[in-house]
Amino acid sequence: MDHAATTPVDTAVVAAMLPFFSNEYGNPSSIHRWGQRADHAVTTAREDLANILNCGLDEIIFTSCGSESDNLALRGIALTARERGHGNHIIISSIEHPAILGTAQHLLKYHGFDVTILPVDQHGFISAEDLRNAIQADTFLVSIMYANNEIGVIQPILELAKIAHESNILFHTDAVQAAGQLPLNVNELGVDLMSLSAHKFYGPKGVGLLYARRDTLAHSHQTGGSQENGLRAGTLNVPLIVGMATALKIVTASQSQDNSKMRILRNKLIKSILDTIPESHLTGHPTYRLPNNASFVFKGIDGNELIIHLDLSSIAASSGSACKTGNPEPSNVLSALAIQPELSLGSLRLSIGRHTNESDIEYVQQVLPTVISNMRDNLQ
Ligand code: PLP
Repeated sequence: MDHAATTPVDTAVVAAMLPFFSNEYGNPSSIHRWGQRADHAVTTAREDLANILNCGLDEIIFTSCGSESDNLALRGIALTARERGHGNHIIISSIEHPAILGTAQHLLKYHGFDVTILPVDQHGFISAEDLRNAIQADTFLVSIMYANNEIGVIQPILELAKIAHESNILFHTDAVQAAGQLPLNVNELGVDLMSLSAHKFYGPKGVGLLYARRDTLAHSHQTGGSQENGLRAGTLNVPLIVGMATALKIVTASQSQDNSKMRILRNKLIKSILDTIPESHLTGHPTYRLPNNASFVFKGIDGNELIIHLDLSSIAASSGSACKTGNPEPSNVLSALAIQPELSLGSLRLSIGRHTNESDIEYVQQVLPTVISNMRDNLQ
């Protein structure tokens, strides 16, 4: 019930990666045959990913994770904008992942960039009007996530990107949670930059990518060797790159069946929780949400304690974002939704996966109401 935190690596992905840890261990930058074989594997992976994203091979920059992709998008574009005289102002939203919020704050505090943080409505939507009003003459980048990691809300990316483009502003989307469940064709989405992370779609941890439309990104945030056209120094992680491409191909091929199955199970879960647990509320939008996401708040419950009680019953879940475990403050996402603190501290995110089945859902339906009721009784 915690697939938004991470997913199990598909067995076919493990099999595809294995040779590149042992016999085929060459460095793709080496010119000898062992290096060239590794380079060939990276190129094949890049082609497979470019096919799914509908972009050029040179528009994919391999990174170590989704956080790094977000950092590279914001920092790299900020440095490029400064050099090209394209402005000084960035727009993000209040429900972004800390990888975006933290990077924007860093650019503001240490590098003198201006940052506007857009509010969201009670469902977590960013309004087109608010974006339009926030645009300034010196805005060079808008970064708005495709789907949210806590409440699963899906933003109208194409519409928001169009608004940015009307003013010649680049549009980045953090698609880390969306990948595997939503279409990733960058031209249909209308985005100039997009971040992905393999461990959210049944690939390995520690590898991600940034799609950057040609001629948009001219600066790296990590200097050194000339890998990735000088946009990200560091020896390429061949096995993990092969694993990421294999994983994205697998989930893309079965996406529509997986989504239909997950949507049915997820809806069943939401309905039964709202029906059986008093003072429970769904967070996010009832329908514009990732098919695997069910997120709630329960009145008078401590979310972190709830996670521990569920763990004792062998259920892995999350309160707010997995990155915030142990933090008793409501997350930035729940704060942005303006949920009262007595509710927002009792948040629960259940996120299912492509292998979740009916009996997993029934088990949660059986355990969760009792756990909440016992926790409430103990408070009295
Ligand atoms: N962006 C979003 C929306 C996420 O959910 C996450 C991870 O939870 C990240 C970025 C960071 O990805 P990674 O764990 O690969 O650094």
